[in-house]
Amino acid sequence: MLKTFLLCLSFLSLTLAEKFRFDNYSLYKVLPKNVTQVKWIEELQNAEDMFDFWSEPQSHAEYVSILSSPENKSYLESFLKTRGINFEITLPNIQEVIDKETVKKYTRTNTRSMTWDAYYPLEDIYAWIDDLVATHSSVARRIIKGIKISHGSGRKIIFIESAIHSREWITPAVTNYIINELLTSEDEDTKAAARDFDWYIFPVTNPDGYVWTHTEYRLWRKNRRPFGADIGVDLNRNWNNNWLGVGSSGNASTNTYAGPGPFSEEETRTLSEYISSLADKIDLYLSMHSSGQLLLIPFGNTTEPLANYYDAIKIGRRAMGALSVRYGTPYTTGNIAEAIYLATGTSIDWVKEAHQVPLVYCYELRDRGVFGHVLPADQILPSGEETMDSILEMIHQARRLGYMNSGNGLKASILSLAFIFVNFYLH
Ligand SMILES: [Zn+2]
Repeated sequence: MLKTFLLCLSFLSLTLAEKFRFDNYSLYKVLPKNVTQVKWIEELQNAEDMFDFWSEPQSHAEYVSILSSPENKSYLESFLKTRGINFEITLPNIQEVIDKETVKKYTRTNTRSMTWDAYYPLEDIYAWIDDLVATHSSVARRIIKGIKISHGSGRKIIFIESAIHSREWITPAVTNYIINELLTSEDEDTKAAARDFDWYIFPVTNPDGYVWTHTEYRLWRKNRRPFGADIGVDLNRNWNNNWLGVGSSGNASTNTYAGPGPFSEEETRTLSEYISSLADKIDLYLSMHSSGQLLLIPFGNTTEPLANYYDAIKIGRRAMGALSVRYGTPYTTGNIAEAIYLATGTSIDWVKEAHQVPLVYCYELRDRGVFGHVLPADQILPSGEETMDSILEMIHQARRLGYMNSGNGLKASILSLAFIFVNFYLH
């Protein structure tokens, strides 16, 4: 009698010509008090694909975010109530929030018309990057589109990968803000950061999924590759590191489907090959996700403090201290497995293990269980500002601990700005 949630969603997204509506879908913030209650919630997650878990049940998680369709709400609520598990409904009708989401069009030839109070469709983000290149200087080519910001040769690299989960709209918004700051800010620390490193930034690494979230189905997470009746691979479970281990699924109907093999997807294959070609120069790798206000370090399959865990945690905590100064937004720092849940085949684990990149972090941006993936656009600017604050502090703290000291340092001045598009054709 209970149709599986995800199968139902894939079916609808295939057959409906109109954009899927989430009328009366509700977002629950479930508050387990103890390990037993967490286990029950895990059983709920594993037994049925009835619900879309936006965060994972885990013993030290303060909450679990669960999206329910209108039909399944009474089942969910009675499941929780009979087990004495506390919950609140943060968004009774998620469609209302989606309806209020400001999606704007970017006006070509005026790069300032990209603003920090709205979300933008894929073609607008790409058009904006094209125009930035044209406005500030030269070299272009072309569809995972990225931008390289470089003030000269011989610099180490800061690499930012964003929106590999397409519904996490705050991630390209914040990433675009960072690009804009690096190019236009008058702040001395920001200018120094822009100058001292080669920045490789990819605002949307899952373009097919991202288009789908704008045109058909706002809450789509995976890419759009079909597998029979099911669609999509979770691109952040598809990397060749502990592939198909804990926290990922071999079932194409689930939201954490790891794909038919490691790097089976064009997105992860092209991106990883590109990262490999630069790897010995990468000092810092950032992967942007939402939500939960977490800063995660590898690895996702174990809580053991591997590699330079203690340095990475120290730098991360200080960076999150800086993040909280402006608006008081609290972030938790930890490795993936201890701070969030077991997850394998993720980009940051692969980058760390395959290439021993010194500092590798995953941001889970705002918020904590109220809006989740439908974060209102008035939180873009503050999210961008505080995230930029934290990246600057990360660089500062990393240098204090002996990381990121190679390259030209502060003596470089702005001689020329070069922008190079890095484009991967996916189809
Ligand atoms: Zn994500």
